[in-house]
Amino acid sequence: MAKRDYYEVLGVQKDATDSDIKKAFRQAAKKHHPDVNPDDKEAEARFKEVNEAYEILSDSGKRAQYDQFGHAAFDQASGGGANGFGGFGGGGFGGFEDIFDAFFGGGSVRGSRRSGPARGSDLRYNMTITFEEAAFGVTKDFNVVREENCGECGGSGAKKGTEAKTCPTCGGSGQVRSVQNTAFGSFSSTRPCDACRGEGKIIADPCSACQGKGRISRSRRISVNIPAGIDNDQAITLSGEGEAGKRGGPPGDLYVYITVKPHNLFIRRNENLYLDMVVPFTTAALGGEIVVPTLKTPVKYNVPEGTQPGTVFRLRDQGIARIRGGGRGDLFVKAVVEVPKKLTERQKELLRELDAELMGEAKAEPQKRSFVDKVKDAFS
Ligand SMILES: [Zn+2]
Ligand SMILES: [Zn+2]
Repeated sequence: MAKRDYYEVLGVQKDATDSDIKKAFRQAAKKHHPDVNPDDKEAEARFKEVNEAYEILSDSGKRAQYDQFGHAAFDQASGGGANGFGGFGGGGFGGFEDIFDAFFGGGSVRGSRRSGPARGSDLRYNMTITFEEAAFGVTKDFNVVREENCGECGGSGAKKGTEAKTCPTCGGSGQVRSVQNTAFGSFSSTRPCDACRGEGKIIADPCSACQGKGRISRSRRISVNIPAGIDNDQAITLSGEGEAGKRGGPPGDLYVYITVKPHNLFIRRNENLYLDMVVPFTTAALGGEIVVPTLKTPVKYNVPEGTQPGTVFRLRDQGIARIRGGGRGDLFVKAVVEVPKKLTERQKELLRELDAELMGEAKAEPQKRSFVDKVKDAFS
């Protein structure tokens, strides 16, 4: 069954506030609570879904991850079903989960899935790359330690030539039924079988290579192609490179999370670059050629006559490649006009001459824009 969107589950918009989400969760949880829907499998599933959605959306960090990567961001937590409710309950709703435990025995969902195939856990690898590597793309190798199926026993955990036997306690289901008496009445629940630890099978003669675990921890060299244009905090998914699945389940995925080192000249915003360029005041006044560094070879740019401090020039296609294709961004160059601090007598003489020449034109005066306009700008 395809997983529903968490926002859809709670019936809120993508930009819902925390209090909207809390409100929607309370309503939905009340509606689908097993207390009011006894023996209703559908309601039980909805209740679980609602709790899961709330656990993610009520946590700003998890919510941000979900917004960026969708359900893939939490495959490790939910294990594609392997852990069931494993990570559940971390959210802040106090005594609620106790009631929940009473109804579901804290293990019915877990237990019922334990003996079937389970997808392997996802793995995360954090990688730091340079600004240029992010701009132009790069191939990187790295080591990852992961659980793989044991080659000796093919993952069964039983010594070569022997087989794991069906657990006599649970008859192979991996779970045992029990009746609980709670404040809400008597409930039948299931929990993982102790004799086989929920596996449904007992290994009499364990494989020596994996000590009966069926799995071995291995270090693997992995290569990842990082596309040109990748940005800080983005991730690359390597499908099937996570941990091996259990009992024939598919492997998990490996997520490579990218951190891009800052550049000493350029600031990046999406595919555009920004650069402050010191321009001598004579060049700004008279116009002239300047040499602008780019990510590749420096380019010449003609500063027009009368360029004001703070003027921004746009150099097309000198930015970063767009990761989904479609050319490059631009380079925005801000002219920082520099007034010389030390002048020779001759230079001072020339400037005094210029000052006399400009008399009547270049007087110090308040800027024409009103203070009020500036305040407005600051808040717009
Ligand atoms: Zn083995
Ligand atoms: Zn058993």
